[in-house]
Amino acid sequence: MISPDIAVLGGGESGVGAAILAKKKGFDVWLSDIGTINEKYKNVLSNYGIRWEEKQHSKKLILSAGQIIKSPGIPDHVEIIKMAHELSIPVISEIEFAGRYTDAFKICITGSNGKTTTTLLTGHILKNAGYNVGVAGNVGQSFAWQVAEKDHDYYVLEISSFQLDGMYDFKADVAVLLNITPDHLDRYDNQFENYVQSKFRIVQNQTAADHFVYFQDDPVIAGQIKKMNIPSHLYPFSGNQNGNDGAWFKNEKTLVININSEIFEMEIKDLALTGRHNIYNSMASGISARLIDIRKEVIKQSLADFENIEHRLEHVSVVRGIDFINDSKATNINSAWYALESVNKPVIWIVGGMDKGNDYSQLTELVKNKVKAIVCLGKDNTRILEAFGNIIPGIIETTSAEDAVKTAYYLGQKGDVVLLSPACASFDLFENFEDRGQQFKKAVFDL
Ligand code: ADP
Repeated sequence: MISPDIAVLGGGESGVGAAILAKKKGFDVWLSDIGTINEKYKNVLSNYGIRWEEKQHSKKLILSAGQIIKSPGIPDHVEIIKMAHELSIPVISEIEFAGRYTDAFKICITGSNGKTTTTLLTGHILKNAGYNVGVAGNVGQSFAWQVAEKDHDYYVLEISSFQLDGMYDFKADVAVLLNITPDHLDRYDNQFENYVQSKFRIVQNQTAADHFVYFQDDPVIAGQIKKMNIPSHLYPFSGNQNGNDGAWFKNEKTLVININSEIFEMEIKDLALTGRHNIYNSMASGISARLIDIRKEVIKQSLADFENIEHRLEHVSVVRGIDFINDSKATNINSAWYALESVNKPVIWIVGGMDKGNDYSQLTELVKNKVKAIVCLGKDNTRILEAFGNIIPGIIETTSAEDAVKTAYYLGQKGDVVLLSPACASFDLFENFEDRGQQFKKAVFDL
C-alpha cells in the first residue's frame, strides 16, 4: 500500500477538480467516494492516472494521507472525518486547496440566499468588461479544475458555509456577505451562532487592502460586525441612504453606488432581475465591479441585460391570464418571503416539501395580504396547515407537481399568480430542486 500525499473525499465536481489539481502539482492522490461516481468523472480520473474507489472508504489508505480534501457535501461528524481529526490530519476544502495555486484576484460571495444569482451576475459584468474571469463554486466547472487547466486573472466564487468550514489560509480580495438566516442548522449542532461564525470566515485573513461588501440591514450581520474588528474596507449595501462608501436606494427608485465619492446611479426599473432581494444582489455585484474599476456604462448594461437563471423567480408562462412562476430554489423561509413580497397580484401559493425547522410565522403578514389560496406540495404538511389554517380556509394538499399545478389552475382566475416557492427542501417527493422545478414547468406547459 502506498500512502497518498493527498486523499480526496467525494468524487463530484469539486473533488475531481481537486484531484486533478493535486496530480498536476505532483502529489500522489487517492480519491474515495462512499457513493457511486458518475461515469464522466471516472473517465476523467482514469485519463489523469488518478487512483480512485467508489462505494467505500478504505480507511487505512485515507488515514495514511498527509492531508485530506473533503467535498462540501460530507458533514464533519462522519466517522472518517472524526478519525482524521483525531490523527491531526489536516482536512481542507477544495477552495482552500485551489487558492494555494493561483495569484488571481478573487471575488468571493456567500450568504444564506442569493449566492448563485449574485455570483453569475458578477461574472456577467466581468465578462462584459472583457476581463479574463472564471466563475466557479456551486456553478459550472470547479475552482480547482479551472486553476489546474485554465487559470484566470479573476475569479468570482460562490462559497457555501460548508466550503468555508474547510478554509484556513485562503483570502478573498473582495468578500461579499449577502444575508444570514437560519439554514442547514443540522450541520451546525442546531446552533445558529456556529453557522454565523462559519459565514464570517469569508473575511478571514483580509487586511486593510481588501474589501468587505455586506448587507447592512441584516441584523445578524450588523450585530456580528460590531463584535468583530474587521480590518478590511467596509462597503455596506442597504435600503436606506447612508451617504458613505457602499450602495443604497434613493427614493425607492434609484440604485446608488458610492465608491470613494465616485457615484453610480441606475433606475431600479432598468434592472434585469426583479424583486427586492435582487436589488440587493445587484448592489453587491455592482459594488464588486466598481471596486475593480469596471466602467459604469458596462455595469449598467450588464445589470440590465442579465438573463435570469432557472428556478429562481422564473416566469414560466401565462395560461388563461394566470401567471406561473417557478421559484423551486426557494428552500427556506427567507427566500420564500422575498418571492411573496415581489408579487403584486393575488397569489396561489404552492408550498411545502421537507421542512428544515421553518418558522412560518415570519410569513403571516405577507400571506394575509397577498395569498388567496395555498396548495401544499409535500408528504407531511402538518406545520403549514397549523401555521396558515386560520388565515387561508381550505388549504389543499397534493403530492405531485402535476396535481399541484392543476389544483392551482382550477383555483385561479385571470390576473392571479401561481407561485411555486416551497420554503422547503425537495427530497421528500423529488430528486432535487431542479427536478421539482422541471416537473412544475412541464405540468404548466401541459395545461
Ligand atoms: P443560493 O445560491 O444562495 O441558494 P440562489 O441565487 O440560488 O441562492 O437563490 C435561492 C433562492 O433565494 C431563490 O428562491 C431566490 O429567488 C432567492 N434569493 C435570491 N437572492 C436573495 C436574497 N438576496 N435574499 C433572499 N432571497 C434571495
